Amino acid sequence: MITIDGSEGEGGGQVLRYSAALSLITGEPFTIENIRGGRTKPGMMRQHVTALEAAAAIGGAEVNGLAVGSDHLTFRPGSVTPGEYHFAVGTAGSTCLVLQTILVPLMLADKPSRVVIEGGTHAMAAPPFEFIAQTLLAVIAKMGPSITATLERHGFYPRGGGRIVVEFDPAPLRPIECVDRGKPVSQKAEAVVAGVPHDIADRELSAMQKILSDWPQESFVPRQLSADEGPGNALLIAAEFEHVTEVMSGFGKIGVPAEKIGKTTAKRMAGYLASGAFAGPYLQDQLLLPFALARGGAFTTVKISQHTRTAIDLIELFTGTSFRVSPGEGKAHLVEVAR
Ligand code: ATP
Repeated sequence: MITIDGSEGEGGGQVLRYSAALSLITGEPFTIENIRGGRTKPGMMRQHVTALEAAAAIGGAEVNGLAVGSDHLTFRPGSVTPGEYHFAVGTAGSTCLVLQTILVPLMLADKPSRVVIEGGTHAMAAPPFEFIAQTLLAVIAKMGPSITATLERHGFYPRGGGRIVVEFDPAPLRPIECVDRGKPVSQKAEAVVAGVPHDIADRELSAMQKILSDWPQESFVPRQLSADEGPGNALLIAAEFEHVTEVMSGFGKIGVPAEKIGKTTAKRMAGYLASGAFAGPYLQDQLLLPFALARGGAFTTVKISQHTRTAIDLIELFTGTSFRVSPGEGKAHLVEVAR
């Protein structure tokens, strides 16, 4: 039984999700205390409970202490059973973070799976759907497993109500080198609005255009969804290169001017573009588990995040596989599976 202090490292929900995924993969039970101890309101939120329910359902696990507000739990995994699953967060909690918990166990199963997840699809501090579909799953496809994600309905904070469908065609993971992003192929900066005034999108787009000033005019596009998917506003900036597509995102918030959201999101993309790295700040921690299980490979990335450091420690604890992180060329860092 592995014991984890959930307040250590990044100290948020990621510690819990990674532990559950690693437990399902290795068969090691774990117990965790001080869940989200690094957050102002510790304990599990609805989203974390659904993520652990999903892990328990696909992995026949026995879980004690699973409840909203609980700050500890014990997880004893059974074996992963691929198949048809449906999970609903019930709030705007992230569907993509529920997926993060079960993604790797199901991509390595012995049969295909189809998973429907309901909740938020576009909200702060979580991967938006487009990042999962265009960035993360595209890199994983190069490693072997083929996973298709479909967005059936957007879910914005606070209303939720989004729906994604994920189909898994499992395969063993092979190591890959993601050192070079390749030449630029296309660029797109989208301002998505649902049930909020259209001029918000226009103001965000012109703020983004000032920062990404060498992108062609036609890369900046407003997108209006039907009002019943809202209210909501998301910025999605995608830079496609030969070997990777990175998606940076920002989300409208009451009281924050549209110009500011546009500028901050575009600056995030500008920072990634200037780094020359393969992986941006969020792809970084999400690549670690597949890379560790492939037992090899390397990627370049931007400044190492606390999420990444925490994931590296957890992976080493459960699997014994470690990573080497070293300065790469220019502003990039090199992350390698240590053999
Ligand atoms: P908490 O509320 O405790 O912060 P959480 O479960 O909502 O918990 P984190 O523990 O902070 O969230 O983990 C967030 C995860 O979402 C990380 O894997 C991070 O890489 C990813 N993520 C956050 N923002 C983005 C984004 N804009 N694009 C892609 N991925 C993101």
